[in-house]
Amino acid sequence: MNRSSLNNALIAATPMTTVVTTDLVGITRGRSFPTDELESYRVAGVGWVPANSAITPQSTVAEDNPWGAYGDLRLIPDMASRVRVPNGPDAGAPALDFVHADICETDGRPWAACPRTLLRNEVQRYQDELGLTITAAFEHEFNLGIPQSGSAHHAFSLGAQHAAASFGGWLLSALRAGGVEPEMFLPEYGKAQYEITCRPTQGVAAADRAVNVREITREIARQMALDISFSPKVEEQAVSNGVHLHISLQDQDGEAMMYDPNQENGLSELGQQWAAGVLKYLPALCAFSAPTPISYLRLKPHHWSASYACLGQRNREASLRICPTITLGGKSPAKQYNLEFRPLDATASPHLSMATVLIAGRLGIEQKLSLSATTDEEPDTLSDEQRRARNIVALPGNLGEALACLKDHADIVEALPEVLTRAYFTMKAQELAATEKLAPNELCDHYALLY
Ligand code: GLU
Ligand code: MG
Repeated sequence: MNRSSLNNALIAATPMTTVVTTDLVGITRGRSFPTDELESYRVAGVGWVPANSAITPQSTVAEDNPWGAYGDLRLIPDMASRVRVPNGPDAGAPALDFVHADICETDGRPWAACPRTLLRNEVQRYQDELGLTITAAFEHEFNLGIPQSGSAHHAFSLGAQHAAASFGGWLLSALRAGGVEPEMFLPEYGKAQYEITCRPTQGVAAADRAVNVREITREIARQMALDISFSPKVEEQAVSNGVHLHISLQDQDGEAMMYDPNQENGLSELGQQWAAGVLKYLPALCAFSAPTPISYLRLKPHHWSASYACLGQRNREASLRICPTITLGGKSPAKQYNLEFRPLDATASPHLSMATVLIAGRLGIEQKLSLSATTDEEPDTLSDEQRRARNIVALPGNLGEALACLKDHADIVEALPEVLTRAYFTMKAQELAATEKLAPNELCDHYALLY
């Protein structure tokens, strides 16, 4: 073979695999390599820089972050979490191929500020100290840039479904290919607002699955050249996009531990303690589950989101909702029984927010808290006195208040690695400073592009 024939040999794009971490602000970042070299990265992973995990949603490295220019880490792929979607609506688009990672020091010690490690440790604690396993699922609402004409304007309509049917069909196929087990794709109440739900799964995999839903949904939109946003509010008057986290606890034999048919609303004593813990710490948890300034345009009464720390039976204005169980066809209520955590949105890290909800619930069990903050009414229609009597407190009105609540709740702060909270506070302070001058409509435009 002479030199010129070598130069004329055709090449094709090299398939790549990306090892990813979903960071403290819920952005999935990572490094890619040729897929045929995956084996060589399995044990020692790929390089990472501590300050890479201190980047705000505005893409600035938080100035006072704990690491600065120093240090090196590894992203260690968890091969069981690999997601592969070989193709989509754009036949020429490269495959989506990524693996979730835990962040480690270069000698393999876990890195204290890794949100996935935090969640893994908390799940392990439930197992070791309480003998409990965790089953969870995240539901996501989002806005899709599709034309709204004719019956596509109508909430929940067949017209709205069909306006996005091609997108929805590709999305379901891609989620299935990625191992996500989608359940429903539906038009929501808002204009061009849709929802995707998937089956529950166990422990860390549930938070991974939330990331997979977001990334696969964005990829299908990208391939179809459609704008998409999971931001809690895309316009000041828009219907809000929530993320609802469904959680249930099982014992080692898989028996439902939150359910007891002899208790009011079917909520077992353990379930009541767990819920009381989540509600006790909820104003502080909002710093993680509603973690951006725009989150607070959603956490208002009559958004079917949440604005008070209370539990309600089938009540969509409650922060924790006891979901309906169905007995039709002989279905078992115990298997379906779960609590839905509603003051959550897609500007939150699934791993960090799920870990902190679990920590609060565990503290409730450890402290044997009794549950008083319940109502089947809309909590803002109760008088101050009624709310005080039931211990129902308002959720923070903005991110600054949520961060202040977190600082005040020593139990939660002490349950988290110090370096993680230090990084988080500086990142959020920088984000607040960067957005403080934005009017609500500007805030909507700003975050619609970021999430
Ligand atoms: N869009 C509402 C939210 O922001 C939720 C509506 C529903 O219950 O599906 O959380
Ligand atoms: Mg919904």
